[in-house]
Formats: sequence, structure tokens, C-alpha cells
Amino acid sequence: MRRPARRRANDPVQQACALDDELLVRLWRGSFKGRSEELLWVPRYPNYHGGFYTPGHAGPWDYLQNVPLVLYGPKRIRASGAPLDRPAGIVDVYPTIGRLTRVDLAPRAGHVLRPALKPKVPGRPKLVVVVVWDGVGRNVLERWPNAWPTLRRLEARGTSFLDAMVGSSPSNTPPVHANLGTGTYPRIHGVTGIKQRVEFGDVVFALDGRETSTLRVSTFADQIDQAFGGASEVGLVGFSSWQLGMLGHGAGWPGGDADDLALLGDPGRVMGNGSYYDTPSYLKEFPGFEAHADAVDRSDGKADGRWRGHPVGEDHDNPAWVRYENDVALTLVQQEGYGADDVTDILLVNYKMLDVVGHKYWIDSLEARDVLRAQDNALAQLVGHLKRKVRDFVVVVTADHGHTPPRTETGGWPVLATDATAYLNKHFDVPKGRSLVEDSSGAGLFLDVDVAKRLGVTQREMAGALNLYTIRQSAGKGRLPPMYEGRDRERVFAAVIPRRLLPQVMKCAFGARRPPADFPA
Ligand SMILES: [Zn+2]
Repeated sequence: MRRPARRRANDPVQQACALDDELLVRLWRGSFKGRSEELLWVPRYPNYHGGFYTPGHAGPWDYLQNVPLVLYGPKRIRASGAPLDRPAGIVDVYPTIGRLTRVDLAPRAGHVLRPALKPKVPGRPKLVVVVVWDGVGRNVLERWPNAWPTLRRLEARGTSFLDAMVGSSPSNTPPVHANLGTGTYPRIHGVTGIKQRVEFGDVVFALDGRETSTLRVSTFADQIDQAFGGASEVGLVGFSSWQLGMLGHGAGWPGGDADDLALLGDPGRVMGNGSYYDTPSYLKEFPGFEAHADAVDRSDGKADGRWRGHPVGEDHDNPAWVRYENDVALTLVQQEGYGADDVTDILLVNYKMLDVVGHKYWIDSLEARDVLRAQDNALAQLVGHLKRKVRDFVVVVTADHGHTPPRTETGGWPVLATDATAYLNKHFDVPKGRSLVEDSSGAGLFLDVDVAKRLGVTQREMAGALNLYTIRQSAGKGRLPPMYEGRDRERVFAAVIPRRLLPQVMKCAFGARRPPADFPA
């Protein structure tokens, strides 16, 4: 931190200017006028957004940003032996797949991952598979070093970028999948968070209704499919609309066609959106979950309908779901003939299970270890199939963000938007039944600008007040839990900044309204 916050410690621009350059650039790339939260916050590390027992992950810190990025494909990808220590980003996947498929993609933010590519290999791979382990940042892999032998093998036999970064904040599923698919950041592609405004309007969930009208640009899959005249098989197997930014617009884009979409719902149900995508009929009522659920139930030593004490069918938080999802993915590959001819096909698979586990049980739980092992097994099964049946393929394994380490380890204070909102309303004497805040996310607050205007409260004033917000004020009355004792007067946030003042923060930090163009991911 080279710039100490001077004089008025609650001045939002000064306060944000004191953040590390990387954090600032990630915030800047991640925000979008009229869509992002009006007030963006960065909790003081190791504080985190979420509850005492249910962590979120929305900040710009390295532990959420550093993700695995491993490329493997015996014919086209170099066997580098050891992971490479060089800057890389999620946005580099886009141009790299463009290079591999020899399609001239629209130029975006990323760079081709040249060290991964074998030189002078003619033709194109028959199939490119991108596997996203949702929430499995490097910090999760480091916690369970023996739970991913398959990925470790791929790191040695392919090329692994140890310092790969997500590149924008918030570190959440919808924006980062769009970074991956489009090769650029939320400030360009427009998917800013789990929640966002519809152009200065209502706050909605990202890619709501399983459609991509908020995604402002095309993806590599959109463009490659089009370059081959729609002859590519393109498909996504995943969990929710939050992964659509990795796939693209389907038939909802000029010249596009209905790509395969398979999103896991309740056990046995696979969903899509027939307006823009195709969900093959054999997937809609897809069998096999019960068998996996029984096996997983028994794997903890008791046939009691539960796994480690939790019901197996409700949440996507156990190995049964991983195995079921792999069945769906492999069935799609076989039935639709992914990799069967010389036109490159693209399959995208998101495994959400470990992210769910991280939110419910934290990443140091045995649940996390078991689910990571299951995902690694699923990867072995998938790669085994590609080796036997497709041969000329490239698989990319990465993640959309890391996960929050246990607060009992870091001492992080949980930041709840509801508490911050109550504090703001009290601080500015907002009448009962009114609120300065319309909605919130892990990244900040969507303000009610009408209420603020009527009360004559500016965004700068609100950010300034939150910059002085303490653990005591956040906790309310009563004693702090023992592990936080004596920390009453500590500030909760490192910086709270109105989004509209970000150019001023950039000016303070970099001498220009935007960061240097060559700033690494
Ligand atoms: Zn999550």
C-alpha cells in the first residue's frame, strides 16, 4: 500500500486511493454505470461479506482471485512438467481458444497463452472442453493438496498457470463466467454481479430467466460456431443461468443457433430455455441420481438417507451431484457426437458443488475434501473418455473464484448488508419505513436515489459514513464474541466508494481516469 489515506480518513476518494493498485483495477474493471451497486465496498482484510456461519465471496483480494488455469491436450498442448510462474488471467482463455481453432475472434482484453501451445501443429482440435470448478480457487486446492491427483497430473502433462487471476471484482460466478466466455471484463460485457440493475432500473438476478440480454458482447463459442456456419456442437452443462456468460447467446444473437443447454434442477430434472437453446429430450427426465445418492449415503458408513448428516437430494452439495452431472455431460457428448468430426465442438461444464459446500460448511470441512475428490474423479472420467474416443482435444480446467477461509482462522469479521443498511439509515435519521438502500449484494449497496435526494444525503456522505463504520456498530448491543474481544473500535471497511467516483480514484492512484492499459490481469 504505497499511498496512505491522508487527512480526512473518511473521504471516499482518499480512502479508496489508498487501496493496493491490483484491488483498485479489479474494482474498476468489475463495475458498470447504471448496472453496478451505487456504493461499492471493500471490507478491511480479512473481513468478508457474509454471516458468522455462511461466508460469501465478493471481494477483490488475491485469495478469491487466484484460480487454477490448466490446459491439457496431448496433441496440441505442451507438457510443461511444472506449473509456470507468469501472469495469466481468465480472460486469456478466449484468445487462446481462438488461436487453437484458427478463428479470428473479436479482439478483447486477454492474450494468447503462448507457452501452453505446441508450435506448428496443423488443423484444429475436434473438441475443446472447458471445465470450471466453481469456487475452487488456488486457496481451496492448497487446503486439500491430496484431493486432486488428476488435476495435478494434467498440470504436469499439460501447462498450468500458477498465478492465473480472475481480474475483476466482485469475485462471483456470473461476472467471471462472462469474463471467461467473452475475454473481457464486466465494464465491457455488462454482467456485473449476482444481482445488478437493468440499466438504471430494477435490481434483478444475473441473467435472470436463463437469457442473455444483459450480456453485451458475444462469446468465443458464439463466434466459433458462427465461423463454422453453425456446424459446431456447442453446449453448457451447469447449475444455473449464472454460467450462461461462458456459453453465450445461443439463438438470441444475430446469426446464432440454439446451442445445447443442460442445467441441473431437482433430482432427475435437467432444464434449459427453449427460446434460445436446445435441451435434448433424453436429458429432460434424466435418470440415475437415486443410484448415486444411495452410494453416497452409504459411503459415510450408514445407510440412513444422509451423507455426513445432510440430506443428499436437496442441495447440490455432495458427490452424488458431481457423478450425476458427469453422467449428463458424457451422455450429451455421446448422443450429440461432440468431437466426432473435424469441425471443432465446444463443451463447457460447471461443477457448482464445492462452491455450495464452501458456503454451507466452509472450505476446511471434510465435506469440501470429499466433493473435491469427487470432482477430480469426474475429471478423470471425462478426460479418459476424450482420450479414448476423441483423441484430438484440448481441455481447460479453471475456476471462477476462490472461497473464504474460516473466520476462526483469519479473525475476519462478517459484514452483513442488513446491518450496514440499518447503520446508514440511523446515521442519516431516515424516517421509519424508509431506507436509503434499495437492495444489496456482497459487493455493496444499491441505493434508493429518491429517498437520498429527498433527505439531501449525497453518495459521498453515505460512503464517508460507512468508512467510519466500526465492528461495535456492526455488532449492535451486547458483548462481542470472545475471538473479537477488544476490537470494538476497528473499522469494518478498508474503503467504501460511490461507483461514480471511481474515475477520481483512478486519477489519484494512476494519474489518469483509467488504469494503464497493460496492467496485468
Ligand atoms: Zn459461491
